[in-house]
Amino acid sequence: MKNIKIFVFSLIIIFSFGCQTRNHNIDHSKNNDQRGLKKDGGHRGKKKSGRRKPSRSSTASVCNGENDFSLVPITFLPSMKKYTIHNEENLIHVCTEDSDGDGKPEFIVIEATGQPEHKSVYYESSDKYFEDFDYATNIYKFAAIYQGQTPRSAGRNKIEKQTLILKIPAQPTPAANKTETDFGAMGIALNGVAFFNENAAPGDEITNELFTFDQCSGHPENRGMYHYHVDPICLIQKLGGRIKNGTRTSSGTKYNWLEDSGTNAGLLLGFLMDGFPVYAPIGKGEKDCKNNATPSIDEYNGHQHCTSDFTGGIYHYHVKTAIQGGDNKPVFWLTNKYFYGETGSLGQ
Ligand SMILES: [Zn+2]
Ligand SMILES: [Zn+2]
Repeated sequence: MKNIKIFVFSLIIIFSFGCQTRNHNIDHSKNNDQRGLKKDGGHRGKKKSGRRKPSRSSTASVCNGENDFSLVPITFLPSMKKYTIHNEENLIHVCTEDSDGDGKPEFIVIEATGQPEHKSVYYESSDKYFEDFDYATNIYKFAAIYQGQTPRSAGRNKIEKQTLILKIPAQPTPAANKTETDFGAMGIALNGVAFFNENAAPGDEITNELFTFDQCSGHPENRGMYHYHVDPICLIQKLGGRIKNGTRTSSGTKYNWLEDSGTNAGLLLGFLMDGFPVYAPIGKGEKDCKNNATPSIDEYNGHQHCTSDFTGGIYHYHVKTAIQGGDNKPVFWLTNKYFYGETGSLGQ
């Protein structure tokens, strides 16, 4: 009897620990310990998530450090080429996978290291992209949902090189049965950074995690995977979108930050695992590629119309202005709970 009790107890320990490793846990008191367990944690997380949807099983490189656009469907050519020009040091590669050899690829493959070419307090201090940041800035930047949370760093987590292999369907299709987004990477931005959804891992609140974001509104999880949950403001700036400077002086300290101007709806930011693109927030309004009004947004936070990247029209998501955090004010979250389309995979 005693042995059975010990066995059950062990199972509970193993199970609860396993859950924790797949969290992208930004609970900093835990992270200091988890950092030492990073390799184990990553391995366990991968094994476990292989049985879950969406798929995270494939981690073997397809592109092998080369771009190959020869079989990329023509409608995707302009958008896929954008992946190869926005990160000059940490190159992103695009190719296709034709597993049955019929000359028609099943997937477009995007491979990235997840390291942004913009400033972050989460780079090592020796890195040229390191820039210090006062987390208290987030009190004012995310004032709409500030309810006494403590601005702070995400523990000792630092941005580390990843192997992100995103396979999106070469012909994206709406899914009859929608797949839930989960707590890992669900897409890749044009600068190679992982997109996460608006949810924190169980036990954490995203409305608390917001106050660990860096100056570009991202942060790394405990394996060093940097990611965006919200409007990636520095990427938007880099892509030529319009941004505003926010500023506030409190107790003699001046805080400065970047804000979305609300006029970047036509700006492509990246793709999710189902092959549908993500555009910047609609904000103050959106016109399609022919300057016509656009249809309203559906429950997946997307709609169909032509854009400058897809002149024939495509279903796409917009970073949404969500009512979350209790104050009914705009915080631009990335996406919703479900993918609109049939999902490919994201090995990580
Ligand atoms: Zn996060
Ligand atoms: Zn749109």
